[in-house]
Amino acid sequence: MELYLDANATTPVLPQARDAALAAMSDTFGNPSSIHGAGLRARAMVDGVRARARRLLGAPTGRLTFTSGATEGIQTAVLSALRSLQARRAAGEAIPTLLLYGATEHKAVPVALRHWNAVLDLGLELRAIPVGTDGRHDLAWLRRHAAQAGLVCTMAANNETGVVSDLEGIERALAGSGALWLVDCVQALGKLPLALGRHPIDYAPFSGHKLYAPKGIGLLYVREGAPFTPLLTGGGQEDDLRAGTENTAGIAALGAVLQALEERDGFKDPATLAQFRRTLVDALVEAFPGLVFNAPAEACLPTTINFSVPGVSSKVLLDLFDAAGLRVSGGSACSASKARPSDVLQAMGLPAWRASSAVRMSFGAVDAPETIAEAARRIRDCGASLQASCLSSLPGDGAAAPGLVTRFVSDGACCYLVCPPGARRCVVVDPLPAFTETIARLLRCQQLELAAVLDTHSHGDHASAAPDLWRASGQCPPSAALDALGWPQGLEALPLGDCRLERLPTPGHTADAVALVLRRGDATLLAFVGDTVMPGALGRSDFAQSAPHEFARSLRLLDARLGRRTPLLPAHDYDDRHATHLDAERAAQPLLAAALDGTLDDAAFAQTKAALEHDLAPTEYRTMACGARVDRGGACESVELDAAALERLLQAEPRPLLVDVRELYEQRVDHVPAFARDTTPQAVPLSALAGAIAGWLGMPADRALVFYCRSGNRSAQVARTMRRLGRANAWSLAGGLALQDDAVPAARPQPA
Ligand code: PLP
Repeated sequence: MELYLDANATTPVLPQARDAALAAMSDTFGNPSSIHGAGLRARAMVDGVRARARRLLGAPTGRLTFTSGATEGIQTAVLSALRSLQARRAAGEAIPTLLLYGATEHKAVPVALRHWNAVLDLGLELRAIPVGTDGRHDLAWLRRHAAQAGLVCTMAANNETGVVSDLEGIERALAGSGALWLVDCVQALGKLPLALGRHPIDYAPFSGHKLYAPKGIGLLYVREGAPFTPLLTGGGQEDDLRAGTENTAGIAALGAVLQALEERDGFKDPATLAQFRRTLVDALVEAFPGLVFNAPAEACLPTTINFSVPGVSSKVLLDLFDAAGLRVSGGSACSASKARPSDVLQAMGLPAWRASSAVRMSFGAVDAPETIAEAARRIRDCGASLQASCLSSLPGDGAAAPGLVTRFVSDGACCYLVCPPGARRCVVVDPLPAFTETIARLLRCQQLELAAVLDTHSHGDHASAAPDLWRASGQCPPSAALDALGWPQGLEALPLGDCRLERLPTPGHTADAVALVLRRGDATLLAFVGDTVMPGALGRSDFAQSAPHEFARSLRLLDARLGRRTPLLPAHDYDDRHATHLDAERAAQPLLAAALDGTLDDAAFAQTKAALEHDLAPTEYRTMACGARVDRGGACESVELDAAALERLLQAEPRPLLVDVRELYEQRVDHVPAFARDTTPQAVPLSALAGAIAGWLGMPADRALVFYCRSGNRSAQVARTMRRLGRANAWSLAGGLALQDDAVPAARPQPA
């Protein structure tokens, strides 16, 4: 069962609100502007809801109009304020020059300010009111700037952190300034006592869907005497404040919610909400040692908990919680699809790691104690799962050994941990500073001996992260002298369990570049090829330490020693293609084909390559591009399998191989989905993909491969990788497990 702890993003609709909306559509469906009985009944309903809202908001006077939501309310308020400034200026008055907004305001506010400032051609200066590390406005700053402000926008409570603003302090700071004042009350309704009429608040927008009403209904309060310009004009509805036939179903639903709130029907009192918070906080602290809260509890709404866990990204935590059926979000919902640090936490001056790994857990004011207790239980499960994967700072039991190859990727740069099953020795290839702590923790937790930390080439722009990794791991490098790339001098092959690593010199990208080839007996399993061959690109060879004239020979050496279908693992992978082989690259890169086929001599190859690399643009991560990408994997055939197609495939012979590509910490807290019940799905986390590719390439060609994950994103990456490597019948479950019917308990996937 899904537990929804993302109430600051939106809420479900209360049953009585649903009933009220249905009644408004079937019984009170009249147009409130009509003067017949049906219209009068609708009008009475609308006026009744408005009267109730006035009582609840403490707004006996002023205008209270229904809107489509808070964004519309904010637009209307900003337009009204700025239009009045424009009129004053047109009348020859000197107007204030600043538009102020809280630095942690919802995006709707600064964007609306910018928009209307430009549309009305006012040319006023927008300035963010700084906040402290507690998320509260800097009132001294505000006092200093208030006299120059035409409009000041603050929020009653923050949507990401739950920090409650000191409205009385702001009121004092603005006293005598003449500035208009907008207070975004979206997150406060139902959680904080509001008495709008007792403060000089000029505008206060509200949103129904944050408090158990449907999306598409909201309220805007405008103080008596505050300037007003309608955003929508037309039929004169809402006393000419907002034209358009009223959304009576939404208004009725909002009315039912406000009634429940007024009668405290289902809405919990502050002490109960505080107790709920303590229950969740206790579970979080126990499950994730080292966890830090990103706003002080005493300054926050009880229903919002924002935290970060050192060394664990918000992506990992969100995937983990989602697998456990806990719906939470990272930062704000609007930015959830982009991996961006939270603007709110950055504005609070929190360290970058906290701003980029924050998770927001927000429960609702009508949640039941059982929901909170079950959420706390699942949070503890999530902590245990992370610990078992050695991703927690608690010591693990070392039981879950890593796969043959584990990949760590940051901004397109890849680093690998190589650990053959059963071996207690491992090697790290192309270490990256971003993963020093994570890998060191993994080594400690799995009790793995670090046999070597190897680079595939020297880096022009930065030093190797190898010394840091040795230090962080607490282990000592081998006593034999190491060369510049970390290889023990004089060693032919580095033994690792039943495998060994061998080196192949591949000068080109740099003169010292090597490929590290992993072999078991006579079999070549895979090779780490650094930047020599990347999916869709050859490593650039225009550095001072490059050897462009040797590049083509190195490619031919790889061809001769590895063949064309050995998985090649690159040091950079800008397009999430994970691995490649020479067959795939030969088809994608004419220059590489020319080198292998001998149609260009080494000098001509170097010359053509130099032309390609002329003016290489940085990557989308704004980092230096390590090669000219000639194949970006843009348009490609669909790899997605919908539910009906999956059903057909499951009936086919041979049976498809189902592969769960979620990380093991996710798989551990979830059930096997119903469609996979009769088969034994493989468990191959995306991070361990490289070690499984050769096995899948070796399977009979008519056996379909079906990958699945939470959302369909990671599984699509894998299916596309396998297609590119020649498996035409590799598929990804469209929409992932999120679109499946509830999963059922069954056998867990088996490691590949
Ligand atoms: N202001 C705050 C504080 C919010 O949390 C939101 C919604 O996320 C909005 C404004 C925008 O509200 P709506 O979705 O009703 O337009």
